[in-house]
Amino acid sequence: MSEIREVLARNAFRFNKRYGQNFITDTNLLDAIVADAEICGDDVVLEIGPGAGTLTARLARAAKRVVAYEIDENLRSVLAETLADSPNASVVFKDVTKADDAEIERAAGKRYKLVANLPYYITTPIIMRFIECENRPESITVMVQKEVGDRLVAEAGSAEYGAITAAVRLEGDATITRTVSRKMFYPSPNVDSCVVTVKMNDRYASVDKKKVKKLIRAAFAMRRKTLSNNLSAGFGISKKEAADAIAKAGFSADVRGETLDVDDFVRLSEFI
Ligand code: SAM
Repeated sequence: MSEIREVLARNAFRFNKRYGQNFITDTNLLDAIVADAEICGDDVVLEIGPGAGTLTARLARAAKRVVAYEIDENLRSVLAETLADSPNASVVFKDVTKADDAEIERAAGKRYKLVANLPYYITTPIIMRFIECENRPESITVMVQKEVGDRLVAEAGSAEYGAITAAVRLEGDATITRTVSRKMFYPSPNVDSCVVTVKMNDRYASVDKKKVKKLIRAAFAMRRKTLSNNLSAGFGISKKEAADAIAKAGFSADVRGETLDVDDFVRLSEFI
């Protein structure tokens, strides 16, 4: 903790609230995240938001190579200092949302793992972008707000289950690997966090994912409506057509979207 403060002070670094800068101070937690991401010697890691570089240096120790995207130019001198002994780590000073898929592929290659402790307001769009992109990572290990983690691993029918749960499950298996107290960060955020790992798989490779995702979005559009009403609105079909598809897929007429798991959505998509 004092070490990070000293490096930041020495480089006259000022936190920028806009960039959600809460740096991990606990060295055991940093090691645990590297272990959760299952980084080994031939891995390339794409890190988003290296901050003071404490996680980056540990990732670099475990991996073949780390490429990190950092939006804040003011961290240049801090990172030069903290990564001085990590020749296999490089930092691109750029907003990662401005880097297109081709750039990411040039930077990280075709086989890579994504690790990120990001501002919470961009975590969900980043997860969705990377699980859906053509050159998707083998796995994503991210620090997220505890409530977001609970949503990502929720069971169908539970209050936490939502469109994002089903959309992520279409691409991989999400697990909460650890919960993290707000005290582990400097400065402390006002929420608790958890680390989530999504391991990509090809379970639904032969499925029309575009259609299934449209179905998932429609099913969760209005939570209090029945699935047939939501399908009718989302697909621009009559209520009878929606009801027929639901019956053919083997669900009851009054079924609600939030009770269906991904296999159910895939089956239903075949009848629409
Ligand atoms: N990884 C470090 C750690 O765990 O201590 C820092 C985590 S801090 C929560 C988030 C970091 O992401 C900050 O360094 C911030 O400047 C950076 N960041 C925020 N938005 C970003 C973006 N769009 N692209 C790249 N980096 C971003």
